[in-house]
Amino acid sequence: MYESEEAWREVDAYFVDTLVPEDEALTDARESGRRTTMPQAEVAPNQGKLLAMLCRMSGATRVLEFGTLAGYSTVWLARAVGEKGHVTSLELEEHNAAIARANLEHAGVGERVDVLVGPAADSARRLIKDGVGPYDFVFIDADKPSNPAYLEASLALTRAGSVIVIDNVVRNGAVTDPDSPDDRVQGVRTVLADIARDARLEATALQTVGSKGWDGFTIVHRVS
Ligand code: SAM
Repeated sequence: MYESEEAWREVDAYFVDTLVPEDEALTDARESGRRTTMPQAEVAPNQGKLLAMLCRMSGATRVLEFGTLAGYSTVWLARAVGEKGHVTSLELEEHNAAIARANLEHAGVGERVDVLVGPAADSARRLIKDGVGPYDFVFIDADKPSNPAYLEASLALTRAGSVIVIDNVVRNGAVTDPDSPDDRVQGVRTVLADIARDARLEATALQTVGSKGWDGFTIVHRVS
């Protein structure tokens, strides 16, 4: 296992070196994750670029993110939406939000991002009440037990054609255990079942290995 994890890291490093150059602002944002409440919980550089490319390929200019941390994924998303675009990112911890705001300023995208502090479910409820949206692209990457609530909120805040990406759906393979006592696993299993039942949605999920271990994404396309 150790050897394979080392190989996954090496391959990720090779891909990142070859295809995913980071400027100083992105590197600083990624490294400043160490000062947050969840060190090293940000997406990998090649995953950040995937999010940015999905945004650009789907023409997204309005993005909603659940889980800001130090704003590493947020920088990728904010750059992808362009000067006229906007990102709303929801974060529980003021401490993390302050680090993220500094990183976003440093990356030159502070003006196009709002980081809303507090439980994401409450912030999303306020966005719905205020009639904000629709968002073109949603990245769900906060507390995993709340994934079903975040999907429901996302459906109130998106339109036909929107894309929703949910991170960390594999959890070292634990996702296949229906009796898992881990409420993060149950949060993933419930949201996948909700997606599967919803006729408005088409979805797939992909396992990934790399610098973040063994995990994966669900990608959802809202068709109606
Ligand atoms: N998306 C970030 C990135 O890739 O750079 C990583 C986000 S990290 C995995 C999860 C974040 O969700 C943490 O910053 C954590 O404080 C936040 N979080 C946890 N529970 C939350 C809640 N109930 N509401 C909002 N944010 C929450």
